Amino acid sequence: MLKKMRSPFMPTAYIFQEIMIDGEEALVFMDGNLEIMEQEEAKDVLAKLIKGYKNEDVNKSIKEHNKERQLLHAGFDFENQGRYYRFNHPVYSKKEFRKDLKRNWSFKCGWCGKKVSSEFPQEYYTIMEYSLEGTTGFERGCSEVCIKHIWDELLTNWLKEHGYDPQKYGL
Ligand SMILES: [Zn+2]
Repeated sequence: MLKKMRSPFMPTAYIFQEIMIDGEEALVFMDGNLEIMEQEEAKDVLAKLIKGYKNEDVNKSIKEHNKERQLLHAGFDFENQGRYYRFNHPVYSKKEFRKDLKRNWSFKCGWCGKKVSSEFPQEYYTIMEYSLEGTTGFERGCSEVCIKHIWDELLTNWLKEHGYDPQKYGL
């Protein structure tokens, strides 16, 4: 991880102000009062920027840091919530067959293949529709163990598609 000395480094937030020099783009730092950073201070900042970005370990850490941030932004906080939550909501839920069904229906568990039928009422589990792109809400499992397996498989694929190593998260 990146070791932060102070956070943030600059007491004021700066933005890049684009300027043109002989038809070419250049940048200067501008603060919230629209004051532009002077040369001496800028030299110091630039030297430190170069030191930071020249270092390969730092560059690797930046990539990892950003990937982790993107994962949080995508609603996953594996470290604090485990992998069965997204955007603070459980990714699967427990269901019961309605008691007033006119016609029985059944499904096969998406993991173990066991037939689950409303004729023999039992609890079953489904993946929440919002929990992952591409889920239909029809991923069903006969038990919590099975729905967790189903989810793990969906999540593994999602992580791979988004450039993450599932093993890093215990998958
Ligand atoms: Zn099952």
